[in-house]
Amino acid sequence: RRLIDGMSSWWCEVHGYNHPVLNRAATEQLGKMSHVMFGGLTHDPAIELGKLLLPLVPPSMQKIFYADSGSVAVEVAMKMAVQYWYAKSQSAPGRAHLTKKSNFVTIRRGYHGDTWNAMSVCDPVTGMHSLFGSALPVRYFTSRPQSRFDGDWNADDTLELLDIVEKHHEELAALILEPIVQGAGGMWFYHPQFLREAARICKEYNILLIFDEIATGFGRTGKMFAWEYAGVEPDIMCIGKALTGGYMTLSAVLTTNEVADSISNHAPGAFMHGPTFMGNPLACAVACASVRLLLESGWQKNVQRIESQLKEELAPAREFPQVADVRVLGAIGVIEMKRPVNMAYLQQRFVEEGIWVRPFGKLVYLMPPFIITPEQL
Ligand code: PMP
Repeated sequence: RRLIDGMSSWWCEVHGYNHPVLNRAATEQLGKMSHVMFGGLTHDPAIELGKLLLPLVPPSMQKIFYADSGSVAVEVAMKMAVQYWYAKSQSAPGRAHLTKKSNFVTIRRGYHGDTWNAMSVCDPVTGMHSLFGSALPVRYFTSRPQSRFDGDWNADDTLELLDIVEKHHEELAALILEPIVQGAGGMWFYHPQFLREAARICKEYNILLIFDEIATGFGRTGKMFAWEYAGVEPDIMCIGKALTGGYMTLSAVLTTNEVADSISNHAPGAFMHGPTFMGNPLACAVACASVRLLLESGWQKNVQRIESQLKEELAPAREFPQVADVRVLGAIGVIEMKRPVNMAYLQQRFVEEGIWVRPFGKLVYLMPPFIITPEQL
């Protein structure tokens, strides 16, 4: 049976499946080395990938840590923030209090992954990890921004964040959030001004800012990375999913020279994270091919084309009495229902129509591969 994929296999398969260019990259690398330990050794695909990525990310991002998956990237980013403040505490006498900066603040309805610390910054009530609540480290949560991406900015949106930060900045290592698009926590698109205000608050109170661009990265929102909508640069940024065009699991955590050098120049002298498959060459080789393919594919035109079609063709759904909201940004189209959908029924109906769409809660959404044709869409 043939199905048209509306999900890009959980938002990562941007070039579609069985792509000859990505197949070739994997096969060629298999014939060289499929794995090289990334401690004390390096290899061409990792170096090449770094050279490809750095011009695409915020200019302040200068150092890269390759990790295994999106969730692990979030773990790495959070550890990096904690180790940064530890390093700062060692940098001069009288700074021991900085070791207390080890907790996190985030926004409700966020999603950051399935591992322990990543779960701790997902929405604690509505999120899929709520049953683990009592076992998780306790974080600070501020309401999700109410101001829509395409609406007016309401300055009250940052009051709660400011209040938390004013009270708790001495124990906060970082603010972590998904810029512009909150994905698996609710498919919500919020106003770029929130990021500008949040960045200002972080700077004023000495808190690092972590952007989780795992879902938004590589063109999905209409920009290469979603931070570009606000022009705000983070201290640490996570990327994953479409990094390898969905072929292999790989993620990267990018950071500034300030964060990386502070960690490297103070005891214990290196970032304390060293997994077996860090910087796996097979994954890096496919990632290089995927990033090049994306850059050569005219992705912006494709994403704009998908956005226009989604805007036009989903708009009539606004008239249905069961529909609460219709929103589109880049290659993401969302129909929010007033009540949770009957997933088992809808899934079956979509398959009968020859399409693969996987709703959750009140949300029926599309995140198609960028190669989808107008007819397929
Ligand atoms: N962060 C965000 C924003 C995500 O959307 C996801 C995955 N849906 C993750 C982190 C976790 O990534 P992974 O599933 O690769 O561990």
